Amino acid sequence: MTVSVILAHKGKDIVTIQPEGTLGAAVASLAEHRIGAIVVVDSHMAVEGIISERDVVRLIGERGVEALAAPLASVMTRSVVTCTPDETIPVIMERMTRGRFRHVPVVSGDKLVGIISIGDVVKFRVEEMERESAQLRDYIMSA
Ligand code: AMP
Repeated sequence: MTVSVILAHKGKDIVTIQPEGTLGAAVASLAEHRIGAIVVVDSHMAVEGIISERDVVRLIGERGVEALAAPLASVMTRSVVTCTPDETIPVIMERMTRGRFRHVPVVSGDKLVGIISIGDVVKFRVEEMERESAQLRDYIMSA
């Protein structure tokens, strides 16, 4: 199963922000959309960085509420680990575990085309396990 299957189910709506925006604007967008991370992109949808709720907590813990005025370009994570639509879910799970993050932007060519969260991956795995156990049950019943 590939990333593109998850994207097809959850739709291709992606919440993004530009690096000139402030941390406060990113926090407002996280709250509005009830999400845990926003991808920072340029005007061509190329990935420039990512800012997650963990960054917000750390920055406010370190600097206080003044951090909210900081431009994203100065506080975002710049070395973003991404994936492509044709990569498989176990590969993405491994990437999240190794990198200790819960979001992986999906890129095609130079452009952002989606984002996969740990919640998407867990939902997919639970559904897959339920399908497998139903198949096993059917097989045993019919034997
Ligand atoms: P998260 O677990 O996704 O809330 O992110 C934890 C930390 O990793 C934060 O500092 C994020 O900015 C960073 N981060 C989140 N996703 C990625 C990613 N795909 N590549 C690199 N860093 C990331």
